[in-house]
Amino acid sequence: MISYFFIMNKFKIAWLYDDIMNLYGDGGNILVLEHLLKCNQIDYQIDRISLGNYQNLADFDILFIGGGSDFAQSLIYEDLLKRKEQIIELLNNNGFILTICGGYQLFGEAYIDNEGHQLKGLNIFPYITKANKTRMNGNIVSQITLDQEYLVCGYENHSGETTNVKTSFGKVISGYGNTLASKDEGFMYKNFIGTYIHGPLLPKNPEIGKYMIEYVFRNKYNIQRDLNINLKYAKKAHDVMINRLVDKDKNA
Ligand code: GLN
Repeated sequence: MISYFFIMNKFKIAWLYDDIMNLYGDGGNILVLEHLLKCNQIDYQIDRISLGNYQNLADFDILFIGGGSDFAQSLIYEDLLKRKEQIIELLNNNGFILTICGGYQLFGEAYIDNEGHQLKGLNIFPYITKANKTRMNGNIVSQITLDQEYLVCGYENHSGETTNVKTSFGKVISGYGNTLASKDEGFMYKNFIGTYIHGPLLPKNPEIGKYMIEYVFRNKYNIQRDLNINLKYAKKAHDVMINRLVDKDKNA
């Protein structure tokens, strides 16, 4: 049974703290989601929601938060905590949440910076992040499994080491990921992805955006959609980086 609710409405994306949590072009992830919806003739709206704007998040289809410096995180974490119930409701409604780096860290128990200051996280997932004196900075390749296996590439720059991750987003092929030692990258659970991969992530790896949108159609609206991706330059950029980084590691 097709959900007629959806036919009467638009596909709604909430971009949280667009003006504060948007490191290394993370806003480019929104551009790819917009492109995928547009080129598949899906009517949509994108709401930029920041400090003091208390639109209800629960009925959005996708929620996105980008990365941010320790200072940026300190500006938004208390505001984010006020939205916990609505974020949980969005997840229970089978919307999809994509978070990058500093945004990812704040969905766990806490982010503790190098001076020991603790920013309380939403604690929706059981991981915790503590800053390390060594920054994890550089290009990264990770192997993920969505509807199939993919090699994803991007860029990371964080001091935070995230531990107690039970289900990672990917396995690091080249670069750091969650900690200096482990080969886990990010965290994924059903309709939530947290990742350290900037770049931004989706322009070089648009299959992740396709997966997110199709997940919402299937699980929230009971509609089977198979989106087209016509981003040939994204594919070219992806392949150049994968070949450069994976070959480099093979020859290392
Ligand atoms: N401030 C956090 C850290 O350094 C997150 C950085 C980011 O979002 N790139 O770990």
